[in-house]
Amino acid sequence: MKIIVLGAGVIGITAAWFLRQKGFEVVVIERQAGAGLETSFANGGQISVSHAEPWANPGAPKKVLQWLMKEDAPLLFRLRADLLQWRWGMQFLRECTPERTRHNIIQIVNLGTYSRASLQQLRRDTGLHYDELSKGILHFYTSEQEFEAALEPAKIMREFGCDRHVISAQEAIALEPALVSIQHQIAGATYTAADESGDAHQFTQNLAHLCAEQGVQFLYNTTILGLMTDGQQVTGVRVQDAQGEQILTADNYVLALGSYSPQLVKPLGVDLLIYPAKGYSATFPILQADKAPSVSLTDDEFKLVFSRLGDRLRVAGTAELNGYSTELNEVRCKAITRRVLQLFPDAVDINRVQYWTGLRPATPSNVPYIGRSKIANLFLDTGHGTLGWTHACGSGRALADIMAGQKPGVDFAFTGF
Ligand SMILES: Cc1cc2nc3c(=O)[nH]c(=O)nc-3n(C[C@H](O)[C@H](O)[C@H](O)COP(=O)(O)OP(=O)(O)OC[C@H]3O[C@@H](n4cnc5c(N)ncnc54)[C@H](O)[C@@H]3O)c2cc1C
Repeated sequence: MKIIVLGAGVIGITAAWFLRQKGFEVVVIERQAGAGLETSFANGGQISVSHAEPWANPGAPKKVLQWLMKEDAPLLFRLRADLLQWRWGMQFLRECTPERTRHNIIQIVNLGTYSRASLQQLRRDTGLHYDELSKGILHFYTSEQEFEAALEPAKIMREFGCDRHVISAQEAIALEPALVSIQHQIAGATYTAADESGDAHQFTQNLAHLCAEQGVQFLYNTTILGLMTDGQQVTGVRVQDAQGEQILTADNYVLALGSYSPQLVKPLGVDLLIYPAKGYSATFPILQADKAPSVSLTDDEFKLVFSRLGDRLRVAGTAELNGYSTELNEVRCKAITRRVLQLFPDAVDINRVQYWTGLRPATPSNVPYIGRSKIANLFLDTGHGTLGWTHACGSGRALADIMAGQKPGVDFAFTGF
């Protein structure tokens, strides 16, 4: 059976890998010149099962309103005359009830735990390296109120097998001495020892090479223009490359186009609520290794994550719902560097910082679409939002099971069942 995977981000490449392991013939189509060059390029690096609390939660509506006009707000809605954005926003509000939040946390934890184990297994099977570190994730709070609010979601996560433990400020400093400059400001923290970090772009590129060695065919520099259908099935993909336009065909198709997924399948009647949530990252060369963190960190107040990637420190965060532009906003870039200087003065070279933005393919619930669609031979692996790196291996592995007619080894609300 031949499968075309649409998109070579971390999601498309992991799907291609697990599909190839099942013995399928796999072709990947990607508009860029290589794998992992869009949203999977410079993300926060965290493999964070412990980040299972969705943006949509009971406290969110009030916070989002407070942040509406604030240029450096962690989550900023810029309202536009855009029907998809408004529909997304309405559904986001519906996901903020305690019941929906709990349901979504359970999906995210289950998929995250399965995915982290699948990544670890893949690492053992292939010997793949990507500046990975297995030192856990430490989430610290500088606001007493935010810390209190985090205790219930952390409890739900523990209930479902994510070992996210509450620790004191002293324990946080003992785990990560680089936090010493703000030790008196830390109101509390949580630590998840089993979580990890690593460079998603390196991983995606290295895994794409392994896929190619195992016979996966890659069509880079090839833009997908549309899907052909006879009303029941996808009959082909219309693409454009240097030679011009052509139609490529397969038995089954996997949609993994990140933020660009909804537009492609809308004409087929497949309605996906995915909206781009623009995020920023800053990558700094490390000057003093002992002053930079090596445990991956989450700074709750500033909604920033910090991951040590070899001799670099990657800092990422913020979300702006404002269309598809990836332009850098100087205010947001400076806010990240300011925070780095507060936390880790002298640790990094701020003059050689590399700023980047990417569009998280966000669903209102933070739960991705994985599984069947209403079109029999079109499968979904998209909408991974804030956690695409964390959820990539589990999503690809589970989808390969579904496409092989097997039951995935994870309890998750797959689409189409
Ligand atoms: C600032 C930031 C920090 C983040 N931090 C983390 C983190 O710490 N941990 C974590 O788990 N996740 C994190 N994420 C989320 C994660 O990076 C994403 O969820 C993930 O990269 C999405 O992968 P994807 O493959 O779905 O999308 P992409 O990587 O965007 O891949 C989609 C691919 O489809 C291709 N494509 C699109 N349209 C077409 C077309 N018409 N024709 C051909 N090709 C096309 C694109 O070129 C692209 O390569 C972060 C994201 C951001 C922005």
